[in-house]
Amino acid sequence: MKPRTTQKHLGTLDHRYLWHPFTQMQEWVEKAPIIIERGEGPYLIDSNGRRYLDGTSSIWVNIHGHRHPKIDKAIRRQLKRVAHSTMLGLSNPPAILLAKKLIDIAPPGLSRVFYSDDGSTAVEVALKMAIQYWAQVKPSQPRKQTFIHLSQAYHGDTVGGMSVSGVELFHKPFHAVLFQSHEIPYPHCYRCPLDLTFPSCHIDCLSPLEEILQQKHEEIAGVVVEPMVQAVAGVIPSPPDYLKKIRDLCTKFQVLLIADEVATGFGRTGKMFACEHEDVMPDLMAVSKGLTGGYMPLAATLTTEKIYDAFLGNYDEWKTFFHGHSYTGNPLGCAAALASIEIFDEEQTLKKLKKKIRLLGELLKPLKQQISIGDIRQCGFMVGIELVKNNTTKTPFPLTDRMGHQVTKECQRRGLLIRPIGNVLVLLPPLSVTIKELKKMVKILGQSIQAVV
Ligand SMILES: *Cc1c(COP(=O)(O)O)cnc(C)c1O
Repeated sequence: MKPRTTQKHLGTLDHRYLWHPFTQMQEWVEKAPIIIERGEGPYLIDSNGRRYLDGTSSIWVNIHGHRHPKIDKAIRRQLKRVAHSTMLGLSNPPAILLAKKLIDIAPPGLSRVFYSDDGSTAVEVALKMAIQYWAQVKPSQPRKQTFIHLSQAYHGDTVGGMSVSGVELFHKPFHAVLFQSHEIPYPHCYRCPLDLTFPSCHIDCLSPLEEILQQKHEEIAGVVVEPMVQAVAGVIPSPPDYLKKIRDLCTKFQVLLIADEVATGFGRTGKMFACEHEDVMPDLMAVSKGLTGGYMPLAATLTTEKIYDAFLGNYDEWKTFFHGHSYTGNPLGCAAALASIEIFDEEQTLKKLKKKIRLLGELLKPLKQQISIGDIRQCGFMVGIELVKNNTTKTPFPLTDRMGHQVTKECQRRGLLIRPIGNVLVLLPPLSVTIKELKKMVKILGQSIQAVV
């Protein structure tokens, strides 16, 4: 088949057989899909040979670019041995070595690694560990079975993850099956729900957390947070010391701090983990997206020796953590993750990133002059640009105008792939992007906004 024919044929098959995530399929089948065939560093190449800059890092997973020779090689080497064997009753070298490596780089205090497959399952594992921990710790506190989460939080699409998330639009059909969790307001400083300004507000939006903890700590197993920045909410960074204050409250009221580092982990915010910005030690930490450098589905829930110890006992005490997925600790994924973490050292990824983060901030500044750009939010290599009708009044575009969507379509035409969240344009380049490519991304983004809005 000629390449063109193949492309057309694949497009037809896609429309005939596939169901895409977070996609209105009725609209999807109206146009030929972009079919990505290859990747090269920060570029994705479609079946027509068109090159696009990967401005979402393939939905926030890619770290060192596509087809990094070291990760490619690590997977090939592992493939010559075995692709998969189970962790139930057996172990494997990449899973063992990666666990050690993760503990070496994780915030101090975390000492045990439990594998799963994706961000949602890593969060589910953390929630289940928290509940079972309180039931088994001495003296036991079996009433501690609910959680506290933040409004607009996102912790995954499984029922547990949804229960501690705050994105109303995604949850509506499922309210009846979600379990109870207390929602507290998130510090959204651009649109402060309390109409206050930082720092004179003294982070007043934290008082509901303290109140709930005071009244209900005996029923609360943990507080779930996206440390430093709520990503899916529209890249909304939290004010300084916010995370630290949550940590202090958790300690004071004896509830576990569950840090969902699925989006922020592995350098995304400028540090290896976002918790490091405020020297916060979580009791449970979920990682996934960047774990394998964006190569394979793999996730881990890290926890402390104290929590781990509460699960020890004689067989017939039934203290075992009865949880595990078929592909847990997959050797190919673990080999990719090991290679990815080694690259951080070898290529001085975080050191080089510092300069790029600063440059990215500089490049974005001039965009602020456009009347349709309300807020530019940056946390390391995560950027959210909120489009508004008028940046003095902060009047939002109605969601039905699909402004974000229209701008990303324009970006696509100009060779940059990004995905909007409502009226927020989200830019998350691979950490390995060069200065030249970074400049090109911001330029296309600025031009596309101007062209559309
Ligand atoms: C993406 C994400 C998840 C869910 O991860 P999946 O791999 O999509 O299941 C959970 N929490 C956060 C903060 C995320 O960004």
